[in-house]
This record gives sequence, C-alpha cells and structure tokens, in this order.
Amino acid sequence: MKTMTCHQLGGPCGLTHTAATADEIIKAQDRHLREAVAAGDSDHAEAAAAMKARWRNPIKGMGWYTATKKAFAELPET
Ligand SMILES: [Zn+2]
Repeated sequence: MKTMTCHQLGGPCGLTHTAATADEIIKAQDRHLREAVAAGDSDHAEAAAAMKARWRNPIKGMGWYTATKKAFAELPET
C-alpha cells in the first residue's frame, strides 16, 4: 500500500489516502473532493471542479493522470 495526501493529488488539505494502485488513490481523492464539497467545504470546490473537468476531457486530463501515476509509482511502499 502507498499513501498520498489530498494536497499531493491537487487538493487543499493534508488528508491522507492509502491504496494499492494509482487508480484507487485517484478514485479515493475524487470521492473525498465530492464529499467535502457536499459538506459545504468551499476550499475543495476548485479541486473538485478541476477533477470533474479531467473526467469530461480525458485527453487534456491525461497529463495530470500520468504525472499522478508516476508520483505514485515513485512512492515507497508503506
Ligand atoms: Zn482534502
């Protein structure tokens, strides 16, 4: 398992996500952003909108996705 923070995934806080794959950690961050926004946390609104835009435009979002996958791959196992 590896750990990345909300901040490392483009968000504004230090909440940590733990997952076995980059895809899982990206999904965990997506969920966290949506939950934070649903709870009225405006700090996460910008990151949530950016995440949504990436799903809507996969070609444009691919750079972020590739960079995040690379960062995940370089993390030490915990
Ligand atoms: Zn966060």
